[in-house]
Amino acid sequence: MQIPAGSVPIERPCLYLVATPIGQLADISLRALAVLDACDLVLAEDTRMTRRLLDHYVIANTLNAVHDHNERDVAARLVTRIARDSLAVALVSDAGTPLVSDPGYPLVRAAIAAGLTVRAVPGACAALAALCVAGLPSNRFAFEGFLPHKDAAARSALAAVADEARTLILYESPRRVRRTLQLIAEIVEASREICVARELTKLHETHYRGTASEVLAMLEADPFGATGEFVIVIAPATPHEAEDGQVESWLRALAPHLPRSRAVEVISSVLARPRNDVYRLALGIDDFAR
Ligand code: SAM
Repeated sequence: MQIPAGSVPIERPCLYLVATPIGQLADISLRALAVLDACDLVLAEDTRMTRRLLDHYVIANTLNAVHDHNERDVAARLVTRIARDSLAVALVSDAGTPLVSDPGYPLVRAAIAAGLTVRAVPGACAALAALCVAGLPSNRFAFEGFLPHKDAAARSALAAVADEARTLILYESPRRVRRTLQLIAEIVEASREICVARELTKLHETHYRGTASEVLAMLEADPFGATGEFVIVIAPATPHEAEDGQVESWLRALAPHLPRSRAVEVISSVLARPRNDVYRLALGIDDFAR
């Protein structure tokens, strides 16, 4: 399929944020191809990876590397150059939408500060693809990106969003996906429905649905369960979880007077909340009597 020459107007000077496929090479818009072909320079996270995409579409454009390690240093220089030479420059990441857990934010800030035009060329994004197939409420959602690598920091980050009243979307690497599912089983309400979307748009695309423990067991039983790319989608907190704030206040009030297990027992019986839920909240409080 050919895009008629000139059918996609290219603005100059302009910074284009161009979404690329997350697996399936055909998941790229005609406008994205036209911009990548006609712009003066393509900024890529990994130039070899983007070169493969451009080669596939027979686009021979100049590529420069802009990634997490250099983008803060090069942003101001690039913006000056785009403005001075009136360039159309496209930013792409290795896969999906730039700036979504990917480089681009400092460059966009610098471009806006310099009064440059910034245009999005929308397309694939793993978070949205996963949300759409998850079968969980999609009218309100929160994107948390990657949890921290270290377990203690990941635990606190998850505890901070455990009562989120919107569907929650996390990215995870194959190395840490099981760890994160274990943390979800421990920290987020045990019965909460989740969906893990693996290898979206690719040959071995798989969706695992159930509670975190059930999904963990599914991944462990699947010979491909530890490979590929993963998005974790977590159902919103149920209304009674929103009452967690009340439980926490009780826990804080009783903490100086009772050991943790006794305080959990008392509160779960007085507030008619499952012991596990109260215990999970109690884990976030340090000052219980011994
Ligand atoms: N900017 C990208 C986007 O728009 O989705 C995300 C980049 S982030 C560095 C990479 C993470 O996105 C992966 O670790 C994984 O969590 C998720 N991801 C990317 N492609 C995926 C795919 N095909 N299937 C499942 N998850 C994917």
